[in-house]
Amino acid sequence: RLITLEGGEGAGKTTVLTALRDALLESGHEVVSTREPGGTPLAEQIRTLLLAGDHEPPAPETELLLMFAARAQHVRETVLPALRRGAFVLSDRFTDSSYAYQGGARGLDPAFIAELERRAVGIRPGLTLLLDVPVAHGRERTRGRDVYPDRIEREQDAFFEKVRAAFRERAQAEPGRIRVIDATPAPERVVAAAVGALRAYLET
Ligand code: C5P
Ligand code: MG
Repeated sequence: RLITLEGGEGAGKTTVLTALRDALLESGHEVVSTREPGGTPLAEQIRTLLLAGDHEPPAPETELLLMFAARAQHVRETVLPALRRGAFVLSDRFTDSSYAYQGGARGLDPAFIAELERRAVGIRPGLTLLLDVPVAHGRERTRGRDVYPDRIEREQDAFFEKVRAAFRERAQAEPGRIRVIDATPAPERVVAAAVGALRAYLET
């Protein structure tokens, strides 16, 4: 089964992913942890290209197509093979991020994104945990982080407000799949809420 973590910068996705992986491993499941953009050598190279600061900023359409180029490869090389052999796949971001960043924040037509999703991805997670945190709080958490600090420095809060709103809108539209987790409290409380949501899902 495919489980994804979504949220803005500094929401704590990576910390929660580690905890979910440990919980699944303890229950004796095979787990493949992965991330987007990335998750295969080629897709990781697309990530590096996207996040590098040594070229002009990509046009929204370019960014979208590169995200889906990476995702198409990720799905075929990493996600589907793991699902086929019965493993759990935990992904730090997936298609919902494109609806939030390239759709909600960059203003691209969600119908275009949906078409790419249908033709190039073809699968949806069974469970998505949306780690929701106010923009200012997330910004505070990413301060001093050494990975890709340029993104949060470059974008205005308005951009991340749009990202957050788009994620929350998706969660409202698909409450059965997307569980919103308040990521404001201390990490151990967020982790406990996320593991609780995972256990509830496993019982369905
Ligand atoms: O998940 P992580 O924070 O490592 O993502 C790396 C960067 O890629 C972030 O700055 C995020 O804003 C950006 N991103 C994006 N569109 C996506 C996925 C990630 O702009 N669909
Ligand atoms: Mg992260």
